[in-house]
Parts: sequence; structure tokens; C-alpha cells
Amino acid sequence: MNDQTGSPPRSGGPVDPAVIDDLVAANCILADQGVLDGYGHVSIRHPGAAGRYLLSRSKAPAIIAAEDIMEYDLDSNPVDQQGRLMYIERYIHGEIYKARPDVNAIVHSHSPTVIPYSVTTVKLRPICHTSAFLKHDVPNFDIRDCDGMTDLLIRNEKHGRGLARTLGEDDVVLMRGHGNVCVGANVMAAVYRAIYTEVNARLQAQAMALGGPIKFLAPEECALITGRTDTNFQRPWAMWKSRIAAN
Ligand SMILES: [Zn+2]
Repeated sequence: MNDQTGSPPRSGGPVDPAVIDDLVAANCILADQGVLDGYGHVSIRHPGAAGRYLLSRSKAPAIIAAEDIMEYDLDSNPVDQQGRLMYIERYIHGEIYKARPDVNAIVHSHSPTVIPYSVTTVKLRPICHTSAFLKHDVPNFDIRDCDGMTDLLIRNEKHGRGLARTLGEDDVVLMRGHGNVCVGANVMAAVYRAIYTEVNARLQAQAMALGGPIKFLAPEECALITGRTDTNFQRPWAMWKSRIAAN
């Protein structure tokens, strides 16, 4: 409900079905890649209204369909709930869209290999050129610093704001004992980052098991890679999409 009027927020208008299809595909791709399981979610900002975002009703990502996509305002109020169950943690999306006008897609996952880096002193750092977006030192949000003892879920605007603050201007933020969030200017970039954050965590654990000092990407190398204008997110996206179509 809108605080001022007590009525639901107005819709940002109709959305191209192809855009909705890509959002549904993003959910299925991330489930297929082992980044999302029964939990986690993907959203996009409404293409025609910066103050609205689109997110599925509460459902496992692998089985989401176009009719499950709901519209929210940035306070995470539904435009037309129709009695549907909503993700408790939708505030992740609303608060990051408020804080980051450059972000148009968000993935929240509990991708398993990343979680150990959120609860130990080992920092997640870019080890491979495909994950240069991790830059130098991935921030880690501890909800205990934000709100004391909780069930670790992002249940309200306060938690979402704290998470968005820790994310800052980065593309990835860890969530202590919980998971992570990856953002992007479009859904392909956010999906790419969610997948390669998991891959980087695996490669880093393997390098640590081999022993000895690790030569991570230098900040200058990360800047050169992320500054490229010819990065082709379309290529892996097409492959990931064809895999889910074949399932
Ligand atoms: Zn979660």
C-alpha cells in the first residue's frame, strides 16, 4: 500500500513480452547453472518506469512462467497482488534500485561456493579474467551490524538499505551466512556476474587447496577488462538459453 493514499501504486505501463520472457529465462538459466536452487530471485527495472520493478511471485526459479511476474514500486509494494504470495526478500531489489540508478537487473542467490567467503577471513577476489567485475575486494554485508540478531533474511526496507549501502558502487555484495547479490545494467550482465561469481569462488578454493601465494588479478587488470566496450554477453547468454530450451 502507498503510505500517502492507502491505495496500491499505479502501474508503470505495459511491458514488451520479450522482456518478460528474458526475465523468466534468467531465472531458469540460473537454476540450470546451479546458482539458484529452490530459493533466490531475479528482477529487472521496469523498462518504461524507473520507479517500478518486475519480479516473480514467490516460486522456485526453475518453474517460473511469464504470468508469475509481478510489478512493484521501489518501496516493494505490489501494483496488483491478486492474492499471490510475494518473496519476503523483495526489499533487496527495491532498495538497490533506489540507490543505484545505473542498475536495471538484480540477482539474489544462495550460490553455495560463495558462502564460505562470507563467514571466514578469506576475501573473495578476482582470480580469472571472466570475473574481473569482482574488482579487488568484494564487500560483505553482515546483517548483525545492521539490525542485531535476525533470521538473516532481508525482511524490510532497513535491511535492504543496509545491503545497498554495503554494495556501494560495486557489482557484487556478499551476505554473511546467507548468499550474495549481483547487479547489472541489463539482465544478461547480472546473470553473467551471478554465474561467474560462483565460478570464481570455486577456482579460488581450488587455487588455495594447491597452496602457496595466489596471484589475483591486479586492480589495473580488472579496470582494463571491465572497461572493454566489446564484451559480448550475448554469446554465453545464447548458450545458456539454448540449454534451458532443450530441457
Ligand atoms: Zn536469500
